[in-house]
Amino acid sequence: MNDFLRTPIEFLKGVGPQRAELLHQEIGVFTFNDLLNYFPFRYINRSQYHRVSDLPYVDSYAQLKGRIIQVGETAMGRQKKLTAKFQDETGVIDLVWFQGAKWIKPLLKIGAEYQIFGKAKIFGNTWNIPHPEITEWKDVLLKTGLQPVYSTTEKLSAKGLHSKGIEKLTAQLVAQIKGKIEETLPSAILQEHRLINRELAFLQVHTPKSEQEFVNARLRLKFEELFFLQMELLLRKQISMSKSKGFVFPEVGEVFNSFYSNHLPFTLTGAQKRVLKEIRKDFMTGHHMNRLLQGDVGSGKTLVALLTMLMGIGNGFQAALMAPTEILANQHFEGIKELLKDLPIRIELLTGSVRKKARVAIHEGLEDGTIHLLIGTHALLEDVVQFKNLGIVVIDEQHRFGVAQRARMWRKNSIPPHVLIMTATPIPRTLAMTFYGDLDVSVIDELPPGRKPISTVHRYESHRLRVFGFIKEEIQKGRQIYIVYPLINESETLDFNNLMSGYEAITRAFPLPEFRVSMVHGKMKAEDKDFEMQRFVRGETQIMVATTVIEVGVNVPNASVMIIESSERFGLSQLHQLRGRVGRGAEQSYCILMTGDKLSKDTLKRVETMVRSSDGFEIAEVDLQLRGPGDLMGTQQSGLLNLKIADIAKDAQLVVMAREEARKILELDPGLERPQHLKLREILINVLNSKPNWGEIA
Ligand code: ADP
Ligand code: MG
Repeated sequence: MNDFLRTPIEFLKGVGPQRAELLHQEIGVFTFNDLLNYFPFRYINRSQYHRVSDLPYVDSYAQLKGRIIQVGETAMGRQKKLTAKFQDETGVIDLVWFQGAKWIKPLLKIGAEYQIFGKAKIFGNTWNIPHPEITEWKDVLLKTGLQPVYSTTEKLSAKGLHSKGIEKLTAQLVAQIKGKIEETLPSAILQEHRLINRELAFLQVHTPKSEQEFVNARLRLKFEELFFLQMELLLRKQISMSKSKGFVFPEVGEVFNSFYSNHLPFTLTGAQKRVLKEIRKDFMTGHHMNRLLQGDVGSGKTLVALLTMLMGIGNGFQAALMAPTEILANQHFEGIKELLKDLPIRIELLTGSVRKKARVAIHEGLEDGTIHLLIGTHALLEDVVQFKNLGIVVIDEQHRFGVAQRARMWRKNSIPPHVLIMTATPIPRTLAMTFYGDLDVSVIDELPPGRKPISTVHRYESHRLRVFGFIKEEIQKGRQIYIVYPLINESETLDFNNLMSGYEAITRAFPLPEFRVSMVHGKMKAEDKDFEMQRFVRGETQIMVATTVIEVGVNVPNASVMIIESSERFGLSQLHQLRGRVGRGAEQSYCILMTGDKLSKDTLKRVETMVRSSDGFEIAEVDLQLRGPGDLMGTQQSGLLNLKIADIAKDAQLVVMAREEARKILELDPGLERPQHLKLREILINVLNSKPNWGEIA
């Protein structure tokens, strides 16, 4: 970066020390470069004025030009509502303020001409515009053209740096950039994708003269952002491959072979076999394996994990399996212990509820190497947990573990153990590319044979009686039922009361002695939860009323109906996970999504998606569109998703394109030594050095 771009923002005309301080604090702008990269999130077309008589539609942005003909105030409790009648040559519309009457009123001059901008609404039978932007015509800066809109904060606005204030600064800055912005992308890429140069892009993104100009500018800047991100990820992968030595497991080993030929409960699916081959190959390279295993609910990831760990153990190493909840860790422990019971393998469980004494024994066993396989929760990450020779770590349900937690597992050895990360929630391709761009990816895209698709329906509250009737029929056929209530935050009293009244209603509709109902929720003691769970597993109760504690892990093949109460309150991936609890046996299974009568557009889309699709990858795509990448991954901490202008959900095609270009360049010129790549090299070395901790993760 050159001196011009590094200039402290304080030295931009109109900023000064005070505003500079605020720009640092509020929006992280320290230099000219930072301000150039502070992009508008929207543009207002100042050349087009609507008419009062033909506003386009409710909630559309309307821009009007006309006069204020009347101003009035009405009391609304302690607040005052301010209303102004605004007239153009076609009619009159109300402008309304529910707040700030005191300081807005003096700005409204009857008879004066104004420019109005805001969202048009209908209230009662008449149109109005609540809280419009309003500027007296003689003060309007931009009477035609496109006006950029910047996000700002209360504190900035108070010092005159509302959107228009920021606009003034950026306009002033871009007026000075001629000849000062270096190109960062290789010219071959610019040509191939018809991207405009960097200087022009900054000019046009902040002061576009036409829609085409900002579209071009944004395209170029988005591509650049995604391209450097992908370059960074691929470089990290390349560097870690070359420098990080990994353990070699020369053989699949005795325990693997013995398990595979004598104890394997079923034939592996083609996809399971393929993934195991990919992993086996990683173990031979001498490099550190860093692999993401994606597979839908029920696709049989656990078995792949077990076989992978057996390879490590057979080569004289220890293995660890980390799960996000105690229930799941317990289930893995019980299941795997059973499968391995005839093999000479010592396996232990370490969770938060393991008592001190047992815990100490486990620590010892890990250090002296007598424990071969450790299963547990986050407790595995504690510093006191040290292994003799940890060779392979499997992390289940990765989406709940952050990048930082992954890193801690790595540091347990001088040579990092191989790592296999399993996600139960399929991740859209573009997101995987970005969020896990430093990992290799394997996919299990095939379910074990003989599964019947689950029939999913949507029912409103008013259909409850019929739903209960259906439950009775299923129970009479010998099936079991889950009824799940939202208890997103286990301490929410309201949710808890809903669960309890739901439970009461169910016990009334399904009375003893014919029916028996279990209940588990997060407020129960672990033993009680376990007890109830076991009764259901053994078939002693027919209905399990539960909160999302059963989301992961529970496996009851005889349960054929999943009823999800207040489905509107669950996210898509959660609904998909819950549905995955049924359809595990030979019988036809059902998922019933109960909702109230009034649903938002997004909720409807979620419910419709569930009814239509059972494909976890497709559901994940819709989830990404609805919720955005940050929410979907449940974390922002890696900084990977803090993009300034690109959007992983909306710019999926660009992500793929950027990845492809980055890959091509590194394939041809891994060291970035060719003249046309020297600029890239310079930029990327800076990027890599600026985030040192990442080195340990990659
Ligand atoms: P997930 O991928 O959701 O973790 P699991 O590993 O729990 O799935 O497997 C789901 C169910 O499928 C389990 O009951 C498991 O025993 C069974 N299963 C796994 N692999 C196979 C297979 N190859 N053939 C038949 N059933 C299988
Ligand atoms: Mg699983």
